[in-house]
Amino acid sequence: MTSPWFKQFYSLIAQTQLSSWLEVLPAQIAEWEKKQLHGDYAKWQKLLTKLPSTHVQQVELKNAVKLGVSEDIDEYTTRQITGLLKQFKPWRKGPFYIHDICIDTEWRSDWKWDRVLPHLEPLKGRTVLDIGCGSGYHMWRMLGEEAQFVVGVDPTQLFLMQFQAIKHFHPNPNIHLLPIGVEQLPDLKAFDTVFSMGVLYHRRSPIDFLHQLKNQLRPGGQLVLETLVVEGDEHTVLMAGERYAQMRNVWFLPSTDALVIWMQRVGFKQVKVVDVGATTLQEQRKTQWMDSQSLANFLDPNDISKTIEGYPAPVRAVLTATV
Ligand code: SAH
Repeated sequence: MTSPWFKQFYSLIAQTQLSSWLEVLPAQIAEWEKKQLHGDYAKWQKLLTKLPSTHVQQVELKNAVKLGVSEDIDEYTTRQITGLLKQFKPWRKGPFYIHDICIDTEWRSDWKWDRVLPHLEPLKGRTVLDIGCGSGYHMWRMLGEEAQFVVGVDPTQLFLMQFQAIKHFHPNPNIHLLPIGVEQLPDLKAFDTVFSMGVLYHRRSPIDFLHQLKNQLRPGGQLVLETLVVEGDEHTVLMAGERYAQMRNVWFLPSTDALVIWMQRVGFKQVKVVDVGATTLQEQRKTQWMDSQSLANFLDPNDISKTIEGYPAPVRAVLTATV
């Protein structure tokens, strides 16, 4: 049975420039749902139904993601919500504030948003796609900038559940997460802005990936790409051995100059590197909501300019481009 989340999405896009998506998406989602009948998915779905209905009076999305305040609910309900949300651990991207309960995530994703925001074509009225959106933190901030319709895709089940847990407290029909991978997207050529942050280095074929991003944009639309980079000239690309900062699924880390060439070869115009910076131990760290290892464990304890494997420590760049 198709979840009401996705049914609502299908009917919302039927009369829009995204309508051709309906030729493939329902079959992909149906296939996905068939695979999720067992295991944690059922448990998470049950937990979602236990979240109490509360009266959210104030919604802040512009400067943070804050849904409701503590005065809306009593002490018992605060503890009930905290306990339920903690069962969706690990919480990686945030922070979210639900009736002033702080979901203190592994990442200060708000800091990434602060680096990206000054370089965006104003999102007001735009239709936006976030590829590899995680639990959707940045999508809420896009709504805060008055984007008209925000869609995220991310194949990780837990992140869909976390997203729905947050959306429970603010069921805004203009924000949606679909549990599919970038490779399942048809060439929609319909979005005004496409974000893909923290995904390129996880792709085995980064050039194909850049093509997939380009094929989601309408002519004149803006791409916002954020990824790990290394120092060096246009001839420099690092491919780590088995692991990079303990991650097994890391492939290509280009220099910013090399990445600009990749993007130009794919056909992006006005490619600009707008921000470069090292990830700090304050931005990615262990918390009560993500209590396993984090960046401090992935760096060389004697020299934090290196990963534990001896590679340059994580440096991230933000690039913008148009088609
Ligand atoms: N964009 C967020 C999250 C980055 S983490 C941020 O910048 O904070 C990388 C994300 O890519 C994870 O949520 C992971 O589930 C997602 N991902 C993995 N494989 C993917 C695929 N094939 N297509 C799209 N996203 C993918």
